[in-house]
Amino acid sequence: MAIIGIDLGTTNSLACVCQGQKTVLIPNALGQTLTPSAVSVGEDGTIHVGAIARERLVSHPEASAASFKRYMGTDKVFTLAGQHFTPQELSSFVLRQLKEDAERFLGETVTEAVISVPAYFNDNQRYATKEAGALAGLCVERLVNEPSAAALASSRISGEEEGCYLVFDFGGGTLDISIVDYFDNVIEIVAVSGDNRLGGNDFDEIIARSFCQHHKMDYDKLDPKAQASLLLLAENCKKELTFQNQSELFWEAGDKRMILTSFLLAGLCQSIFERISQVLTRVLQDSERTVDDIDEIVLAGGSSKMPVVAFYLQSFLKKSPRAIGPPDEVIAMGAGIYAGIKERKQDIRDLVLTDICPFTLGVNVVNLTETDNPIMSPVIERNSILPCCKTGYYTNVYDNQSHIAVGIFQGEAYYCNDNLKLGTINMEIFPLPAGQAQIQICFSYDINGILEVEISDQQMHRLKKKVLTSENLRLSEEELEQRLNELRSYKLMPPGGIRTTLVLARGERLFSQLLGDRRRQVSLAMEQLRQTLSSQNDQKISNSLRAAEKLFDLLEGL
Ligand code: ADP
Ligand code: MG
Repeated sequence: MAIIGIDLGTTNSLACVCQGQKTVLIPNALGQTLTPSAVSVGEDGTIHVGAIARERLVSHPEASAASFKRYMGTDKVFTLAGQHFTPQELSSFVLRQLKEDAERFLGETVTEAVISVPAYFNDNQRYATKEAGALAGLCVERLVNEPSAAALASSRISGEEEGCYLVFDFGGGTLDISIVDYFDNVIEIVAVSGDNRLGGNDFDEIIARSFCQHHKMDYDKLDPKAQASLLLLAENCKKELTFQNQSELFWEAGDKRMILTSFLLAGLCQSIFERISQVLTRVLQDSERTVDDIDEIVLAGGSSKMPVVAFYLQSFLKKSPRAIGPPDEVIAMGAGIYAGIKERKQDIRDLVLTDICPFTLGVNVVNLTETDNPIMSPVIERNSILPCCKTGYYTNVYDNQSHIAVGIFQGEAYYCNDNLKLGTINMEIFPLPAGQAQIQICFSYDINGILEVEISDQQMHRLKKKVLTSENLRLSEEELEQRLNELRSYKLMPPGGIRTTLVLARGERLFSQLLGDRRRQVSLAMEQLRQTLSSQNDQKISNSLRAAEKLFDLLEGL
C-alpha cells in the first residue's frame, strides 16, 4: 500500500508518490497535477472539488467555497447551499478527491498520507489538518513543514544534500519565506517570516485596478460579478506575461481593452515588491544570516513563476534562484519524497525536522491610554527552538491592586485583540503600592505544542499553574467517527463525468460574464452540447466537448 505526499494548498493542492527513486506527480481526472482547493455543492448534492468548483465560485457563490485553509484550526463555519461545514471538512473533500485520483492512478488503495503544512501553523492548525485527513479516510501520522519539503525536493533533485536554503514560497494569497539548514541528514528550519495577505491575487487586483483607471471606471463600485470576471481576466493576462512580454486584457462587458507589458507590470507592482523586501529583511535578521550564507534559493508557489518576481529577487539577493522544476510542484514533490522515506521506514530516523515556535507567545499588559485595548508583551518570541522556557517579570499598575487577570496570547500584533487568545489566568496578589509587586510569569512550550504557564507572586509565595492545549477545538473519537459517517454520504463527482461537467460549469460562468454576441455563442454551444449528451453517442459527445472548449478558450483569449 502506497503512502502519498500531499501539498494541501490555499489555492491549489497536489499529490505525489515515490516510485523507486522517482517522484511522480499524480494527475487528476482532467489530467492536471494541480487541483484547485475549492469545493462546491451541486444542485443534486454532488460535491464538486477542483476546477468545476472554481468555476462555480463565480456562477454559484452561495454553494461554493475556497481559501478555507486560512481558517484551519478556528471555529469558522462555511455555509454551502444551506449546509454547514468546518474548514477541515471542506479540506477533507479536497483530500478525498486527491486520494481517489491517486488510487485510480496507482491501481491500489491509499490509506496513508504525509501532508505539508506552513511552518508557522500552530498546534490547532496542525491538528485540524490531521483531522481533515481522518475525515477523508487517510491516516496522517506525519505532517511535514512546507519549507522543509521544498528544501528536501531541491536537494534531492540537484544532488547536493548539504547547505543553507532560502525557500521563497509565493502562492495565491500568502508569501512565506524560510531559512532552512540541511546538514547531516537533519533539516532544520532556522527562521520563518511571511505576509499572509500577499500573493498572486494582489497582482490580479493591481492589474484590474489599473485597467479601471485606464478606462476611468471605479473598481470598487463594480458589482461583485463584474469584479470577479475582471479579476479572472487579469489573472489570465498575468499568466500570459510569464511566457511572453506583452498581453492584452479584453473586457467583453464594456468592450474595453488594455495592453500590458512585463515592463509596465513591474512598475505597477512596486508596492508588492516593497512588501516582499520587508519579509526578506526580517527573515534574514531573525535567522542571523546574511545573503552570503545562503547556498541556494528555492522557488516555490505559483507566483514565483512570474519573471518579474524572479528578477526582483535576483536584484535584491544578488543571487539567482535555482530552477528545479515548476515552483508550484516543488512542495508536493518534497512531501512525496518524505512519504517515500516514511514507507521505507529505515530512512526515517535520519531525517529530523527540528521544531521551532513560529509565533510569539505573550501576555497582556495594560494600555494606560486605552484600557480596553491591552498591549502584547512577548514572553517566548517567534523562531525560538523547542522545547523552550522563558520568564517575564511584571508588576502591579494600581495601588493596592489585589487581583490580576493574565491573558495569554499568540501572534505578532502589537495589540492583544489582534492576536489569538489562548486563555486567561486569574490570581490574587498581595496589595502593594503601584509598581512594587514582583510577579513572574514563566512559559514552557514543548514540541507537542503544549504550553504551560506559571505565575508567581514573590510577596505571597503563591504559584498558579495552567496547562493550555487546544483540546476544546478538537473532536472526540466518537464525534470524529460520527462526522466521518455523515461525510461518507456526500458523493464526489465520478471521474467519467468530470470533463463534461467542467465544460458546462465553465459555460455557465462565461454566460454570466459575457454579453451580446459572445454570450449567444456560449449559449448556443451549451445547447448543442446538451443535445449531443442526450444522444449517448461517444464520438459526437467528444467532438462537441472539444468544440465547446475551443470556443471558450477563444472567448477568454487563451
Ligand atoms: P497556494 O500555495 O496558495 O495553494 P499556488 O502555489 O498554486 O497556490 O499559487 C497560486 C497562484 O499562482 C495564483 O495566484 C496564480 O495566479 C499564480 N500562478 C500560477 N501560474 C502562474 C503563472 N504561470 N504566472 C503567474 N502566476 C501564476
Ligand atoms: Mg502553497
